[in-house]
Amino acid sequence: MEKEKEKKDIRRLSAEQLARFLKEIGEAPFRAKQIQEWLWQKSVKTFDEMTNLSIKTRELLEQHFVINQIAVDKMQRSTDGTIKNAVQLYDGKVVESVLIPTDTRITACISSQVGCSLDCHFCATARLKRMRNLNPDEIYDQVVAIREQAEEFFDRPLSNIVLMGMGEPLLNYQNVLTAIDKITSPKGLGMAARRITLSTVGIPKMIKKMADDQVRFNLAVSLHSAIDEVRSQLMPINNTNSLEDLKEALLYWYAHTQRKITFEYVVWKGINDTERDVRALIKFCKAIPSKVNLIEYNPIDDGPYQQADPEALQMYIDMLERHCVTVNVRRSRGKDIDAACGQLANKELTSIRE
Ligand code: SAH
Repeated sequence: MEKEKEKKDIRRLSAEQLARFLKEIGEAPFRAKQIQEWLWQKSVKTFDEMTNLSIKTRELLEQHFVINQIAVDKMQRSTDGTIKNAVQLYDGKVVESVLIPTDTRITACISSQVGCSLDCHFCATARLKRMRNLNPDEIYDQVVAIREQAEEFFDRPLSNIVLMGMGEPLLNYQNVLTAIDKITSPKGLGMAARRITLSTVGIPKMIKKMADDQVRFNLAVSLHSAIDEVRSQLMPINNTNSLEDLKEALLYWYAHTQRKITFEYVVWKGINDTERDVRALIKFCKAIPSKVNLIEYNPIDDGPYQQADPEALQMYIDMLERHCVTVNVRRSRGKDIDAACGQLANKELTSIRE
């Protein structure tokens, strides 16, 4: 058992490392391709299933490596069809992923970190603190699990992926990019990058890096306020990364990718529900090719953050529309099972803090 722990996860080897290992054991280089296919495209769980390799090679792989697995520990189904998975990682830590069905789409909402370091005051995940980054295979495997559930429960293919679960994807940049590469590769899941959306608090430096790296997926930014003092109160990241810096990075993104940004925005009672807040949002949106998703808030406790009155929401919609800013209202899904946005860190999960 002790020895098991020392073995390296084969999916964490670089192409060169795998090639070197195959050379050491006297295997032909083309075996690397076969092994990669088994590991990613076919998602096998054991070396034994790699039936086009010799038994000897399978045994050698087994002696040197493990294939770490995620396990869907607990699956809950909401009355609206939403499925929430508590996903156990190889080291016992838990993240959550959610399947969200609509008439036209089946979306997987996946996590990128265990916990989060960013401390947005309204978010449940923030209370867990960050414990570790997910590895590329752990991000990938969440998609595989939801893809299977889409087939099993809905008889429909998974159509979209949003990185809106636990964690800040841009603080686990390399692993997230590697996972997306595999998800979009024909040697992986072959999904279209334009059906993937990465959601971030908005880290200007990393947004520019993504643009430089010519990523092909969509970008969503959790804005919540276009007034610095208000946003800094909600999201401490704004203290060191102002809205002006964010705007500059988003313009850079648009110039390089030609893809509009989606702003995620919750309207809270007494916090950002005045006309002044809407005006600032309109000004911000006018400067950046974008649209706004107004998200229904899921209260995580009875603290200061509560959903604004319907009149305030209507004021946002009316004013934004009057100024030709595209706006959608996103109703909450999976509320009865705590699968709703920002609520992934439910009662059970808080126990992983220890
Ligand atoms: N760190 C990334 C992705 C995870 S949060 C980000 O900040 O975008 C995904 C989205 O859920 C963000 O827009 C976040 O602001 C929002 N969110 C967090 N808690 C929420 C809650 N209780 N109700 C509604 N949305 C919430």
